[in-house]
Amino acid sequence: MINVSKVEDYFNVEGKVIAITGGAGVLCSEMAKSLGEAGGKIAIMDLSEKAMAMLSNELTEKGVEHITIETNVLQKNDLVRAKDEILKTFGKIDILINGAGGNKPEATTSKDKSFFELPEDAVQWVFNLNFLGTFLASQVFGEYFAEKGYGEIINISSMNAFRPLTNIPAYSAAKAAVSNFTQWLAVHMNHNYSKKIRVNAIAPGFLLTNQNRFLLTNEDGSLTQRGNQILNHTPMGRFGEPKDLISTVMWLISDSSEFVNGVVVPIDGGFAAYSGV
Ligand code: NAD
Repeated sequence: MINVSKVEDYFNVEGKVIAITGGAGVLCSEMAKSLGEAGGKIAIMDLSEKAMAMLSNELTEKGVEHITIETNVLQKNDLVRAKDEILKTFGKIDILINGAGGNKPEATTSKDKSFFELPEDAVQWVFNLNFLGTFLASQVFGEYFAEKGYGEIINISSMNAFRPLTNIPAYSAAKAAVSNFTQWLAVHMNHNYSKKIRVNAIAPGFLLTNQNRFLLTNEDGSLTQRGNQILNHTPMGRFGEPKDLISTVMWLISDSSEFVNGVVVPIDGGFAAYSGV
């Protein structure tokens, strides 16, 4: 139990070792910087060496203790190697954030590409990256948490897991699988290993980032019809920013949410709540 008389204890991540897959991406690099500045020790696992090098410079400038490890979340032995390297460097791991994920134009319907033509390999790619990547990393780090008796896993779902969005059937279904798996794993860990392991997810709303820029903006930067529709359907009237995710992630990984398990928290400016009428 946390001491409620000391509010600063609520969000304390000081000294916690936080491993982040896809950690050099737009959203997770923001998490890495904020959680690192709050005293967390950060392990970035990403495919892109270049993105990790850029992030590493920023983390060093901010005085954040960190390591970067080239890791493919679809290769289990890569994940095992990364876990061992983190343990060698920091001596423990407290939190896994499953951040690697995304969509691609080839798995997206458009006026030029019908549902009937979506190629199987593109659909498979989206499923693998979002679901299998989360599943495999949870196996590798979850086994360590089970041995240790505690740990937190944060998955990244999406608005389209609650209700599918038009054009992106593979990404919607893969994120629905991530939400479903979040609930499954939370229960499985508690029933079989420890009552002190928690598995939760965030479901970011519409943030303008690399993965969806082609859907939300035209080449001249103006909003597409879809971009306009989203803003009209977001009661708070704006796209989210990566920074909007931070306080919820800090809440979920800190002791302040110690009895919260198996939930998917929307961070969406009210999008999921609005029926459109
Ligand atoms: P991003 O593309 O900026 O970051 C993803 C990172 O994952 C990249 O650094 C990439 O190199 C890395 N990566 C890709 N394949 C990998 C693999 N096989 N192994 C390891 N790393 C790999 O994406 P983002 O916008 O920051 O999204 C992060 C997460 O949030 C994703 O799961 C995404 O689906 C989810 N999400 C994003 C939004 C949004 O609006 N951007 C909304 C909802 C959910």
